[in-house]
Amino acid sequence: MNLRDEFIKKLIEAKISSPRLETDIILKNTMPLYPNYTDEQEAVAREYLSRRLTHEPLDKIIGKKEFYKYTFKVDNNVLTPRPDTEILVEKAICLIDDNKKYKLIDLGTGSGCIVLSILKEKHNVNAIGLDISDKALNIAKQNAKLLEVEDRITFINSDWNDIVKNNEEFDIIVSNPPYIPEYEYNELDIEVKKFDPITALVGGDDGLKCYREIADIASIILKKGGYILLEVGYNQAIEVIDIFSKKDFSIVEIAKDLSDINRCIILKK
Ligand code: GLN
Repeated sequence: MNLRDEFIKKLIEAKISSPRLETDIILKNTMPLYPNYTDEQEAVAREYLSRRLTHEPLDKIIGKKEFYKYTFKVDNNVLTPRPDTEILVEKAICLIDDNKKYKLIDLGTGSGCIVLSILKEKHNVNAIGLDISDKALNIAKQNAKLLEVEDRITFINSDWNDIVKNNEEFDIIVSNPPYIPEYEYNELDIEVKKFDPITALVGGDDGLKCYREIADIASIILKKGGYILLEVGYNQAIEVIDIFSKKDFSIVEIAKDLSDINRCIILKK
């Protein structure tokens, strides 16, 4: 049996959903000249296969993920960028007028996929990418270099509640905060639960803890007339709007993701 067939067979046995496609991705990333390959290349391909057989997501094994128009480095310290988050980037870009300068902050930047995509598209934006995880910021910094926008972003390693102490104001806040309720965590797919950091996923007992914190922070650091764009869980849009309505923010739009789910809310101060 050749190597490709052997990999496909093993992935089928492990009930991995697209065994042929995933085999071809592994081979393409480890043996560009397959069916010709060296012993070293075979060792790497076999290591990737054995990790995949433990249900580690292929993006994390390969170490990169396409998001919006770009490719981002990822590892187990960051939430893998999801296609559903691209709507937030699109909406932010639509709000930005090319003739003004903007200061934007991404609360819980992770891989940096949101803020860096916006910076790449809009040259009149300067940004802060904040995260409590220094390991996540290490990946975000590498992505800023890969996308060649590192001169327009500053990374801050802190709890986002501390940002109010800096006395800095912003025109736009973006965030995809952790929003899974604690009681739903165990129901998550094993590939998410085991390989995405729990700190990027769980948002307190009811999943809304981070939105309450962000509403408090935005009341202080967002300029009057500024916008906030938030990703929300599949059933959270109304509750999140309610949290922000109590703090002098008005709803501008609820945008749907690719599965027609209310995924991104845009508010104005
Ligand atoms: N959308 C992610 C998931 O379903 C959760 C991301 C988040 O909590 N911000 O796994």
